[in-house]
Amino acid sequence: KSQRFAHKKILVTGASQGIGEDIAMHFASEGAQVAINGRKAEKLRPLLDKLPKPASGSHLIVAGDMSVEEDVDRVMKETLEGFEGLDVLICNAGMQIECPSEDIALKDFNMVMAVNVTGVVLCARAALKYWRANDLPGNIIVNSSVHQQIPKPHYLGYSASKGAVGNIVRTLALEYARYNIRVNAVAPGAIVTPINDAWVKDPVKYEATAKHIPMKRPGECREISDATAFLASKESSYITGQTLFVDGGLTLYADFEQNWS
Ligand code: NAD
Repeated sequence: KSQRFAHKKILVTGASQGIGEDIAMHFASEGAQVAINGRKAEKLRPLLDKLPKPASGSHLIVAGDMSVEEDVDRVMKETLEGFEGLDVLICNAGMQIECPSEDIALKDFNMVMAVNVTGVVLCARAALKYWRANDLPGNIIVNSSVHQQIPKPHYLGYSASKGAVGNIVRTLALEYARYNIRVNAVAPGAIVTPINDAWVKDPVKYEATAKHIPMKRPGECREISDATAFLASKESSYITGQTLFVDGGLTLYADFEQNWS
């Protein structure tokens, strides 16, 4: 495999499973040093052992809850000190809670917003502070969702949070473009990960999900980590403020596939 990210230092939040784990594997397999975050260090150890060795230095475990300010500040400090730098911040940690909107508990809504929105802001704040203080370029990639654009009934907090991510990315991109700090998002469609166990593990629901995607299949984690690697690479050096939808056509108004006229 190419060593495109040799000597690059990359933090991935929410790396204990699913897309985040795949992103960490992807960057390590292309030579990067990766700091893997999740709430519990024990859950990250098996991944640390699996990661291909970096071209230089070593990987890090930086455990902490991305919805808690002190945890984020400590995780960012441990990463910056442990790596003596940071090239790319990948805000991947995310969650959703299902509930009809008339019954939504404030604590559940706040929890989804805290992980998916506040966590991104807090991580970005620390990385931006470091890059600006040292006059360095930087790169932030946030894992958004097609629900940045497509409404998601019964998941009000999730829809609201991913909508917010779209504008956080655009605002930070504009504010820091002049310093060569790029900020983008990847917006996955339906990807086979534990967050989707409800339909992934049920053959009938799996079929129904696959059928309503224009490409007629869910995506794989690799397809998200490939897009993330592109946004982290010099091949995307003039791209900032964008959301790259990686969704098999899900955001294309699939019903219009048929000719209704
Ligand atoms: P997942 O549930 O498998 O993984 C989520 C990861 O985030 C886990 O490692 C979890 O431990 C971590 N996490 C959750 N809360 C955290 C917290 N407070 N602090 C630190 N880590 C925390 O889900 P996934 O499908 O891999 O999702 C990853 C990202 O991709 C999320 O932001 C999600 O919204 C987004 N996404 C996923 C899909 C999909 O179909 N799987 C689609 C669109 C967007």
